[in-house]
Amino acid sequence: MSSFIDGIRKITNSSHINPDEKICKTCNYKCCTKRFQQNFKSWTSDNNYIDKFIQDTQLSAHRDVKKALEWIPYNKLYNIKHIEENCYVANWIDGNILCWDRKNQIWIRRDQKMIVKLKKLNNPKAITLEFMDEIKIDYVFYGITHDPETKDYMMVLNERCKKCNIVCNAIHFQQNFKNWTSGNNDIDKFIQDTQLSAHEKVKNALEWISYNRLYNINEYMSENNRVANWIDGNMISWNNQNWKREGQNIIVKLKQINDSKNIVLEFKDEINKAYGVTQDPKTKNYIMV
Ligand SMILES: [Zn+2]
Ligand SMILES: [Zn+2]
Ligand SMILES: [Zn+2]
Repeated sequence: MSSFIDGIRKITNSSHINPDEKICKTCNYKCCTKRFQQNFKSWTSDNNYIDKFIQDTQLSAHRDVKKALEWIPYNKLYNIKHIEENCYVANWIDGNILCWDRKNQIWIRRDQKMIVKLKKLNNPKAITLEFMDEIKIDYVFYGITHDPETKDYMMVLNERCKKCNIVCNAIHFQQNFKNWTSGNNDIDKFIQDTQLSAHEKVKNALEWISYNRLYNINEYMSENNRVANWIDGNMISWNNQNWKREGQNIIVKLKQINDSKNIVLEFKDEINKAYGVTQDPKTKNYIMV
C-alpha cells in the first residue's frame, strides 16, 4: 500500500510543482516559480478564474520572471486618468519585478512610479494564454488589477517599442511629450522626432530646455556668441521615472535659430554637439543649446 502511495506521489511530483518542496524540480534550485508559489496565499483577485490564470503564468515562469503576471492591488496605482473607451493611464508605485533579492527576501523591482496603461477586461473569463500572447505583441503585460468601485478587472500594461521589443527610450520620451512644449509646432515636432529615433542612444535625442535652467548667460555678446551654464546637464539613461544626467553646470554655447521652418537644416549644419532648444523669454527667439 505504501509503495502504491509513493508511486502516486512520484507521478504527482513529476507533473506538478509541490508547494512543500524547497527547490524547483524542473530548475533544480529555488527559481521564480517557487518564490511566487510560496506567496499564493497572500493575495487574491476575488475571482477564482483570474487567480488561477495569474498563478499558472507564475507556475510556468521558472527562470524567466517576465513571463509571470502578478496581482497588482488597485491602491498601488495612482494618477489614474481615463484616456479612451475602457482605457486609462496611471502610475504604478512598485514598478515591475526584475529578480529575487535573496538577502532581503523580496522582489527587486525597477522603474518605481512607472507610467502604465490600464485596459479593461470585458469578460474576466476571456483571458486565455492565446489572448495574453496577442496582448504581448503590442504591450509589455505586467499583471491584473481590480477597480473596487466599478468592479472592473483591468490589465496593467506598458507600450512595447515595435523596433526594440521592449519599453525603450523612445517610449519614455513619448510618454513625456505632453509635459513640455516650445510653443512652436515645428520645433516641437523636430525635437520629438529626434527623441522617437533615440531607441538605444539617448545622447542622439534633443530636448526642450527651459531658459531658467541656464545661468551666467553673457547677454552683452551678440546672439550667436553667447555661452551659459546649464544646470541639468545632458541625459544619459532612463532611471526611476527620470533621466539620469551627467555634466551638471556644463558650459554650453547658445546659437540663435534663424528660421524654425528650417530647423532640421540648421541643426544638420551645426558642428558643435547640440543638446536641445531653448527660448529667450524677452526676445522670444529660439536658441540652439
Ligand atoms: Zn523552476
Ligand atoms: Zn470609459
Ligand atoms: Zn525602441
